[in-house]
Amino acid sequence: MIVVMKMGATEEELRLVCKKAEELDFHPHVIYGKERNVVGLIGISGNKEGIGSLEELPGVDRIVPISKPYKLASREVKREASVVEVAGVKFGGEEIAIIAGPCSVESEAQMVKAAEQVKSAGAKMLRGGAFKPRTSPYAFQGLGEEGLKILAKAREATGLPIVTEVVNPKDIDLVYKYSDMFQVGARNIQNFALLSLLGQAQKPVLLKRGLATTIDEFLMATEYILSEGNRDVVLCERGIRTFETSTRNTLDISSIPVVKTKSHLPIIIDPSHAAGHVQYVPALSRAAIACGADGLIIEVHPDPENALCDGAQSLNPAQFVTLMNEMRAIARAVGRYI
Ligand code: PEP
Ligand code: MN
Repeated sequence: MIVVMKMGATEEELRLVCKKAEELDFHPHVIYGKERNVVGLIGISGNKEGIGSLEELPGVDRIVPISKPYKLASREVKREASVVEVAGVKFGGEEIAIIAGPCSVESEAQMVKAAEQVKSAGAKMLRGGAFKPRTSPYAFQGLGEEGLKILAKAREATGLPIVTEVVNPKDIDLVYKYSDMFQVGARNIQNFALLSLLGQAQKPVLLKRGLATTIDEFLMATEYILSEGNRDVVLCERGIRTFETSTRNTLDISSIPVVKTKSHLPIIIDPSHAAGHVQYVPALSRAAIACGADGLIIEVHPDPENALCDGAQSLNPAQFVTLMNEMRAIARAVGRYI
């Protein structure tokens, strides 16, 4: 259920609704809109029979049931698109934010070089994994805390905010200390304990869709973060597993308009893990911009041939410069900019 406040309802009236909702054993979540504010009533133990009494309170317009299983992520709760800000970089506005960098942090020299290269091409954020969830336990697993320290040095050198993956709930505090945004990888979308803990952290989250996650399941996973109080979630489509083997995954381009219809949250595209092969990355990136993506996260490595992870799908810096120029032109054509 949501309590829709009247236009012009005061902060005091809003606070009273929250107080009464708490008395009914709900967790009230205030969602501030441009025209009016709403209060989401969250919690399975809440007294549903008592909800009607909220309608009598000053400043309340009406009480509306939410038909979708996901609530705080839904368009029913918030009609206008949310803009999520990460250290000054905005996702969901007119600007399309590009995140770029290597799959994994390998060394300080590699990371600082990559950061400088992607920055000069126009990237707004830096990516790089210090904890790598690899299919094989024998593959390079990342540098751990040393990798996080290197990322912080690359930020210091370039000013680019950092997004990096947290794989294990026990590392949340550590990753918090060094990063600007948590990344939840495709394999962890069903790690609800991790998602709930990130919901309690005061830092934006980039949530990647799983290999076999429906869009409704994607939004339900998001709800684990939002319902704990963290509203700063950016969704990321990175390809889903289908019968097709020519690409590593199949980029579900339709997830962009579908997510935007169902949810107010921004969605970005990872063309690299979808394609798996560098030659397909530019076409998928251009399509994502044309289709309305709020950003992209692209793997770029100073020397892809010698990358420790995902070199085959990583652009080299020159290819990234070319792609940025192509994407800028498409962004302009759809009324946005990079
Ligand atoms: C990554 O971004 O490096 C990564 C491991 O992606 P995904 O979780 O989408 O496979
Ligand atoms: Mn990768």
